[in-house]
Amino acid sequence: MLLLAWRRKPYTSDVMVQPSAKGDNGTVHWAQSEDLPTSGIREILDLALQMPDVIRLETGEPDFPPDPAVIDAYCRAAHDGHNHYTSSWGIAPLREALAEKIQRVNHVVRSPQEILVTPGGIPALFVSFMGSLRPGEQVLVPNPGWPDYLGGVQALHLEPVLYPLAAPDFWPDLSALQNLVSPKTRALVVNFPGNPAGSIPGPELTEKLVAFAEQHDLWIISDEVYDQIVYGRPPLSPAVLAPQRTLSVYSFSKTYAMTGWRLGYLAGPERAMESLNRIAMGLWSSVSEPLQYAGMAALAAGGPGIQTRLGHYRERRDLCLDILRSRNIPVQAPAGAFYLLVDISRTHADSRTFALNLLAQEHIAVAPGSAFGSATESYVRISLASSDNDLAQGVTRLSEILAGG
Ligand code: PLP
Repeated sequence: MLLLAWRRKPYTSDVMVQPSAKGDNGTVHWAQSEDLPTSGIREILDLALQMPDVIRLETGEPDFPPDPAVIDAYCRAAHDGHNHYTSSWGIAPLREALAEKIQRVNHVVRSPQEILVTPGGIPALFVSFMGSLRPGEQVLVPNPGWPDYLGGVQALHLEPVLYPLAAPDFWPDLSALQNLVSPKTRALVVNFPGNPAGSIPGPELTEKLVAFAEQHDLWIISDEVYDQIVYGRPPLSPAVLAPQRTLSVYSFSKTYAMTGWRLGYLAGPERAMESLNRIAMGLWSSVSEPLQYAGMAALAAGGPGIQTRLGHYRERRDLCLDILRSRNIPVQAPAGAFYLLVDISRTHADSRTFALNLLAQEHIAVAPGSAFGSATESYVRISLASSDNDLAQGVTRLSEILAGG
């Protein structure tokens, strides 16, 4: 087997960015193009924030507080003097606890030296893209997929190539992948359980995806931020099958209801992680020290809180499915994550117009399917992380509208 090429050289003066040239009109040239994607979810969110009494079903934010032990641990760490820079890798006891978690939950064996603590899942993805690809190279990104992949990919001057996840299961289409891969392709992004469809392919398909990555010598960037929000069989992590070519992205945001705390972690083979750590040094230096202690408390409190929240998401999922199905609205039960994709094709409206009208006329905020790519143009996404009340009211009204009421 070919040795997988790591794209990033150590930082030396030859990779230093040169000062920007002045533009014709005397303004300093701005290197970043203005056509970086904006989020179709944010458009709805920003409008919803300006309106009173909106039923909020658009964002993926748990409506639960973090475990009190996590808040206590943060305060205690700050009082105890843990208010300093740490190693850019993260503190040793947290990395040890994360190695234990990854083995127990994800069945991936990584040493603590192969784990980098990050300020959330987004930066973990960003450094993965940065390390595994050079500008102009291609990365395969799911459609539908979480919109922020494109922001990171394009900001780094990489070329996203969208591959379809086919309805109704929204699993990766292998033959489409084979047609899309090119000599410029260096990485494949997978996301199970997925946002927006909550899909989890069976292990056979994951094995085929890994074989595809091996055949074309690709890195697998495996976004597993919903790894503990699973309603049935958990996904098979690609790192179990191909630890030397997989970078696994994890987060405290969803599992521990800690979105605003900004804590995540990245696991991969040691030689790649060494390089990613150097990138991390230049980006965030180190993650907040008291936050890392809070992360240890979250891992220690673990089980019961996670199970309680999961139980709520499951109840909400089943409630919404009942409401929608009672009016014959097509909807697929998600296997994981906390979203539901609702088919709006019977309205013949595009999803953005539908979402804007639903907000303006009914004061219900949903995420338009177009925000996740063309494959979900005739869907809207509702978040089961919204409050019980909002979900019951909002989904009932949505189903009445879709049923023609
Ligand atoms: N990946 C997916 C699929 C997501 O849905 C999100 C957040 O919504 C993230 C990554 C980023 O999570 P965070 O940066 O909060 O850890």
